Amino acid sequence: MLGGMQDWPLRVGRLVDHAAREHGTRAIVSRWADGRETETTWREVRDDAAQLAATLRRIGVQPGDRVATLAMNHAHHLAAWYGIPGAGAVLHTVNPRLFDDQLEFIVNHAEDRVMLFDAVFAPLVERMKPRWPSVEHYVCFDSDEPAPAFADWIGDDRADWVEGDEREACMLSYTSGTTGNPKGVLYSHRSTVLHALSMLQRQVFGLESRSVMLPVVPMFHAACWGAPWAAASVGAKLVFSAVAEPAVLCDLLHRHAVTAVAGVPTVWLGLTQYVDATADGAFPPALRDVLCGGSALPRTLVERFMAAGLRVSHAWGMTETSPIGTSGGEPWNWDTLDFQAQVSLKAMQGRPPFGVEMRCVDLGDATRVLPRDGKTAGALQVRGPWVIQRYFKAEADAVDGDGWFDTGDVAILHPEGTLQITDRTKDVIKSGGEWISSVDLENIAVGHPAVAEAAAIGIPHPRWDERPLLVVVLRPGMTATADDLRDYLASRVAKWWLPDAVVFVESLPHTGTGKISKKDLRAQFHGFSWD
Ligand code: ADP
Repeated sequence: MLGGMQDWPLRVGRLVDHAAREHGTRAIVSRWADGRETETTWREVRDDAAQLAATLRRIGVQPGDRVATLAMNHAHHLAAWYGIPGAGAVLHTVNPRLFDDQLEFIVNHAEDRVMLFDAVFAPLVERMKPRWPSVEHYVCFDSDEPAPAFADWIGDDRADWVEGDEREACMLSYTSGTTGNPKGVLYSHRSTVLHALSMLQRQVFGLESRSVMLPVVPMFHAACWGAPWAAASVGAKLVFSAVAEPAVLCDLLHRHAVTAVAGVPTVWLGLTQYVDATADGAFPPALRDVLCGGSALPRTLVERFMAAGLRVSHAWGMTETSPIGTSGGEPWNWDTLDFQAQVSLKAMQGRPPFGVEMRCVDLGDATRVLPRDGKTAGALQVRGPWVIQRYFKAEADAVDGDGWFDTGDVAILHPEGTLQITDRTKDVIKSGGEWISSVDLENIAVGHPAVAEAAAIGIPHPRWDERPLLVVVLRPGMTATADDLRDYLASRVAKWWLPDAVVFVESLPHTGTGKISKKDLRAQFHGFSWD
């Protein structure tokens, strides 16, 4: 027997309708690439979105067609996030930091018909145009050069949202493809709305109406962690910045009394160094919540935040999980833990909210589910309503028969449910039949005062299969020797984990999403000799 309640499709247009109706005057601030700052409201964002939807319909964009954005974070981009799915089309957020071959591949694979871009990416657009035959219209978000300006192009007519099944696609995001071609993750209206609602749980992030959020994570990266959707559902104020320089961020945090920020550890390392160098060394006073993920948050940073009274939500996830898989809300026994135990807990990757199931299986035998004993590491698998089923245009599902998706991460699950990511399957260092976590070595190494960035990779070894090599970038003006670092690590890891060699370099290779590229680093040190 069916229930007697309404079918109210969970479609993203309803999020912005709610924001416009219930929180219409709440501000959306944009700090643009040229330094200008503008302010609009949720109601105006909804109007712009409806105008964009009308224009897309008028030029013949059909439900299911893909419309791309190539842009940093700002209010026009936010309007496009709602206007494109509002026209029944699929919002494809293209990452401008990808390499030309990847940009060619994904725009062709997505068959984008329209490209909305920021003026700063005009040279990229001009360069790529001949390689993007599917794109019929180019529109510039923030200038009327070299394409029509968004504000003029969207006209005055407003469309109603195209309605339909909540399982229809609304957004497409490609993984950066550290191996092989990028793969498209096609979010549905339903998965997006459910994921957005999870962000409101205090256990996940606790976004609410009083929140003033500055998502530093770009809108083209892993759906900006769902912030633009979640913020609409509670009418939070959003502060966008097209640049992530610490001075600019700090100024915005102060002037807009920002309470919540979200970004990757590198951003917080930069911001913390900046704050430490100021006269009072204090974080902006309104700031309360720091959402951090994308790569492991070093313990030293967790401690620095917590000592300043900030609430750290250390989240784990990936494009395939929309992206929130876990987040670091406090467990029931939080108040019984001493400060160092609290820091240790927050340095791990938190727990899954309702909607995400997790398990670890044996790295060599995926049928063997591992115990949640806080010590056995295995391949992390997830499933749930905002976890991928099948990549865009793929012939087969990306999950096993029971819906489990293999994340490619190596993890330990603790008895009370805490996730501890120890590595990526392809980065883990295999030494004498045992596993060494490259992530642990890196995190500890960056705790050394002279170290700016560090990466550990496995180098073939005649006796042990592989042994760790630590590659280090020193902070400007600082010095340290290989022995200094080995001594520092020696008191913090098992002896057999100690890197056999430490190499100092000027810089490390990064991927399009700003993470250290282990693939390029391995290529760089291919043929490295232990002698
Ligand atoms: P990619 O880096 O492949 O483009 P994502 O941006 O989706 O894809 O990144 C997902 C990966 O980032 C995860 O599989 C995991 O390896 C890593 N990651 C994300 N959050 C964390 C975290 N808090 N701690 C450690 N690793 C993380």
